Order: sequence, then structure tokens, then C-alpha cells
Amino acid sequence: MESQKLTCEHIKTKVTQATKNIGRLTFDYEARCCIECGNALWSQDTEEKFHTWLGEQRRVNPDKFVIQKVALSSSLVAFANELALRNHSTEYAVYQACLSLYFVLGAFRKPLIETIDAIVPRFEGPLVPKQFQISPKIFVKINSNARLFDLDMNEVASWVIERVLWAAKCDIDETLIELEYALVV
Ligand SMILES: [Zn+2]
Repeated sequence: MESQKLTCEHIKTKVTQATKNIGRLTFDYEARCCIECGNALWSQDTEEKFHTWLGEQRRVNPDKFVIQKVALSSSLVAFANELALRNHSTEYAVYQACLSLYFVLGAFRKPLIETIDAIVPRFEGPLVPKQFQISPKIFVKINSNARLFDLDMNEVASWVIERVLWAAKCDIDETLIELEYALVV
């Protein structure tokens, strides 16, 4: 699959209004847009404005940063509760820590991500739906992965959480220690 981004050098541009959708929120911004391929060019300045906007959204719309439905097998839910209890935390903080382990800590620890990617979780017990708030930073990461793999955000969050929990439950490599670390930072 050849991407236009790779072949077009975006030489001729014009200033235009652009939008970026993050879940149910829309970031409106002014950007230079390539006349040839139509791509809006994301600059350092746009990046800064985006982060300012994201910070405001956290304050104004905290209820928008929600994972609507992650379906986890009851044995993983029990394990999450056990882990929460042991670390004086909450079940939802454990799910958030799974996501942060994968998307934030994982950026610096490739072997850890490779371990998690290779996990095939086993499903034990019925599936239990979970809904919880997450940080805007993680929300954005899940959103861009969802686009990349053509999944919805719930699917991406489920994929990550069940693998991380399963790896930690079976104590594969250092995943349990890493998850407990993510839970306390
Ligand atoms: Zn272009």
C-alpha cells in the first residue's frame, strides 16, 4: 500500500481551517494544507495548540474521556480487583495502568511491548462489561491506534487491557512488576 504522504513533498501549501476528531470532541485549527494531496500539515505550533486544547478539554469535558465498553473475562476482573487491593488502588485505576503501561511506558520499552503483543489471552468465565474514565493523553493514543488499525476505541482498549492483565496474571517476563509500577506512578 503506497501512502501519498511518502510520495508528496507538500511543496505548495495554503492556509486553511482543519479539524481533528478525538472521540466525540473536535479540535479546530488553522493549518497549512498541501494543494497537491490535500493533507493538513501538523506543525510544532499546531502540536502545542493541540496540547493546550486537550488540557482545557480535560477540565471542561472530563466525561468525554470515557472508554464506553471493555468486555473482560470474569477471571481477569477478579485479578484486577486483587491487584487493586494489594496496591491500595481501585479496579479502574488498574485498567488505566494497563493502558498507560502499553502506550506510555511501552514507548521506552520495546521488549515489553513485544511480549504483550505476542500474548494470546485465554478467556476464563463470562465477559463482564466495564466503563471508565481515562486521561486525555491515553484517550488520544487509543484514538490514533483505532484509526490506524480500523478498530473502534473499545476494541483497542479491550485488546490492550486483556493482554496486559493476562501477562501480569501469568507473570510473564516482568509484566506484573511493570503493571504495579504503572499503577503507583
Ligand atoms: Zn502533499
